Amino acid sequence: MNSRESRRTFLKQFGAVGAVLYLGSGMGLARTAPHHRITEMGFRYTISSVDCLPKLKADMDRLLEQNKVTKHATIREYVGAFATELPEEQLWGKSFINVAIPNKIVQVDFHHKGEKKRVKVAPGYTSSGGRWDGILDHIKEHIIGDKEAKLEYGPFIPQKLLAARSGLGVYGRNNVIFIPEFGSYHALLTYVTDHEFEPQPWRNPQMLRECEGCNICYESCPNKCITPENFVIDAGRCVTLYNEENEDMPEWMDPTIHNALVGCLLCTIKCPANAHRLADLDIMDDITEAETDMILSGEQNEELKASIVEKIGRIGLTADFTHLSRNLRLLLER
Ligand code: SF4
Ligand code: SF4
Repeated sequence: MNSRESRRTFLKQFGAVGAVLYLGSGMGLARTAPHHRITEMGFRYTISSVDCLPKLKADMDRLLEQNKVTKHATIREYVGAFATELPEEQLWGKSFINVAIPNKIVQVDFHHKGEKKRVKVAPGYTSSGGRWDGILDHIKEHIIGDKEAKLEYGPFIPQKLLAARSGLGVYGRNNVIFIPEFGSYHALLTYVTDHEFEPQPWRNPQMLRECEGCNICYESCPNKCITPENFVIDAGRCVTLYNEENEDMPEWMDPTIHNALVGCLLCTIKCPANAHRLADLDIMDDITEAETDMILSGEQNEELKASIVEKIGRIGLTADFTHLSRNLRLLLER
């Protein structure tokens, strides 16, 4: 995964910076259902004009002015990197097609010291293994209606905010985007096309109905990222910000709170809006004692490494065993 994709993944999964809700100025939280459309491939989508980019920027600027976004340097770097206009090579773009495709919690059993330790990976870190091959042709044929249309992956933009604004999904109190059929376990993808569509809805971001009167994610977050006073969570304290990187864990963070090989599941796994998604796991092959030992020790054995990559390569951590080793140690040695 390159750094651009890594940013997208982070913001998609946890993107507190994308949460915009108008809590003041007489603009209450509306609570209505998403109004996306469904294709035969089973993904959900909305369409937005590329003219939405200045509107997204205005939303982000408002959040920054209101001091609602963490000052953590990595998050501020992400925010600063959002495209506010189309890049030169995509100036032909007229519309964004905002797509949500379902993904799953990954489960892997690591054999270690004679025991089997079940480890999870938060959704959003794994490739689909080819399940969505052909999506570009499908969009051209079934959404655009023109097989010759130009269609490319879009620029780096606040996809969760665009999902909320376009009606693809609604924000949960934990700032992830919920789509009824997928819960919060999905990937957001933005494509740009030269096709112009009829004007599309642009609405105030909505809050998930189930959040009303629910405190589950607030009480589940070990780092108190979710606070009653600010709808935008403090992403600078989010576990995922630290276990996605190679740097040492901060001293203030309790090492026992790590709960996934990468990412964090604590504010989504008990959410009632995800209950229907929990049995649908992406189960990968067991990692043997020898393979586990190699990951933990950091020693390189090409045969074992190839075997590990074959089993869990889709997680995207295997290129950097330092990272995998640190995160696995946090889970196995607590
Ligand atoms: S756990 Fe409760 S408050 Fe949090 S996102 Fe889910 S429904 Fe909303
Ligand atoms: S529960 Fe985990 S993922 Fe959710 S906000 Fe807290 S640290 Fe971040």
